Amino acid sequence: MSVGVDVDVVIVGAGAAGIAAAIELHKKSVPFVVLEARNRIGGRVCTDRETFSPYPVDLGASWIHLYGPKNPMYSFYQQLKHTKLVDLYNDNDDEDEDESKRLINIDYDGRPISDDLEHQSKTICAQLFAYMEKFASSNGQQQDQSIESVMKLEYERLVGSQREIKRLVDNYFADIEVYEASDFNNLSAVQWETVDTSSISDKWVSFGYGTILDDIVKQHKLSIRLNTLVKHIDIRNSDRIVINTALDDYPIVCRRVLITIPLGCLKKETITFEPPLPEWKRNAIAQMGFGVLNKIVLQFSDCFWDPTKRYILRTCNEPRSRFHYVVCLPPPSNILILFVSGNDACALETLTDSETIQLATCFLQRIFPESFVPNVIKYKITRWFKDSLSFGSYSNYAVGTNENTIELLARTTANDRIHWAGEHTNIDDKTDQWTMGCVQSAFQSGQRAALSIQNQLRSCSNTQNNFE
Ligand SMILES: Cc1cc2nc3c(=O)[nH]c(=O)nc-3n(C[C@H](O)[C@H](O)[C@H](O)COP(=O)(O)OP(=O)(O)OC[C@H]3O[C@@H](n4cnc5c(N)ncnc54)[C@H](O)[C@@H]3O)c2cc1C
Repeated sequence: MSVGVDVDVVIVGAGAAGIAAAIELHKKSVPFVVLEARNRIGGRVCTDRETFSPYPVDLGASWIHLYGPKNPMYSFYQQLKHTKLVDLYNDNDDEDEDESKRLINIDYDGRPISDDLEHQSKTICAQLFAYMEKFASSNGQQQDQSIESVMKLEYERLVGSQREIKRLVDNYFADIEVYEASDFNNLSAVQWETVDTSSISDKWVSFGYGTILDDIVKQHKLSIRLNTLVKHIDIRNSDRIVINTALDDYPIVCRRVLITIPLGCLKKETITFEPPLPEWKRNAIAQMGFGVLNKIVLQFSDCFWDPTKRYILRTCNEPRSRFHYVVCLPPPSNILILFVSGNDACALETLTDSETIQLATCFLQRIFPESFVPNVIKYKITRWFKDSLSFGSYSNYAVGTNENTIELLARTTANDRIHWAGEHTNIDDKTDQWTMGCVQSAFQSGQRAALSIQNQLRSCSNTQNNFE
């Protein structure tokens, strides 16, 4: 057999997980190669710098969640934030600013929401969340159901036919559904956790999250092979793993492989393994939830909303996660980013661009009845569910899954020769900083997997030396 490359480690995927693993292997001088199918690095961290030039817009991740010194992305952000180059929005790094002052909170038709209505609906929500917590803490895995089905009767009892309250309560639900990128009817009730969002600090990366990953790759001088789609991994030989790519050249041979492709790709079996993956791994892949979050980015000739505001939160009159949340980028960019998640996000992916834009502009006209919504001058619509190198946005707890599912997703296969990383494999480290589904989760999982590979390779070479 002719061989193209012979290295110790192949990392499949150059998203946050693959990049983090590459940094660790590079530091320890372990010979490795990163194979990335796209023509760019970053995966689901992707900053579009062309469509709205000079304004960068993130099509994937845009917030550093749990922003703080313990987050591995924090120091990378700190290094970049002062460079003039990235400060196009003149954001003044508004870390201390009160978010509520920058929020437009309105009803589906643009009317303000009365304090009384808000208070009533918050009280009902608190009761519903307490009900869910009770369920979660008193039920074992075998009794897991969807949040929707567990909450149904209590929701009907408390909300009844009060239509205005219903809209506001649904609004709080949409907050969670958009964050999880899935609807309540897919999410595990046993995994319910009421999160006090006021204590969580998230940082919007105004210069584009992709800038951070690009900079990391440059800083560490990582060499990454782009446009290289891995198709087949053969582990039948006990010494060598043989990897075939879509490029019609020689296979790549290695001793360890680290798979960091998205859970959506694993579900679709876009890489074939020979022999096939063990059943426990395939079951974990099938069971774990993988949600969809999309963005509809629209640029207007004028800013028809209050230019001092950064977010619009509005109650729903249609599927509750549709455009529930809108990010406003300040003039002169005049850009609005509308979010849609879950089943509705998949449904909207089947529409044409012009149909989607029409839906979005009608929605905007409805919430700004006093203003004239001008024509869209530039736009970008993400379709992460259709993206064949992702098939979705990020993972969550589907009904019947738990930390053990993540542990199985992270567990090595093929006698510890295949390693697994990615946002869906970040094992709960019992800190208040633990996350899954985020960029830092992917990053941490890559670091963990690289360390484990290094230890293995080191102990193999020690054993060999002992025999010499
Ligand atoms: C719309 C959206 C908004 C989000 N918002 C946030 C946010 O604000 N904050 C946050 O922290 N997280 C957010 N996330 C989630 C975050 O982007 C991901 O959790 C994280 O980037 C995943 O990194 P990863 O390395 O696990 O996977 P990826 O970034 O997907 O990297 C995997 C790589 O594998 C490549 N690949 C796939 N198949 C093959 C193959 N066969 N051969 C070779 N290469 C292959 C892919 O092209 C990709 O580059 C968001 C995601 C989306 C989609």
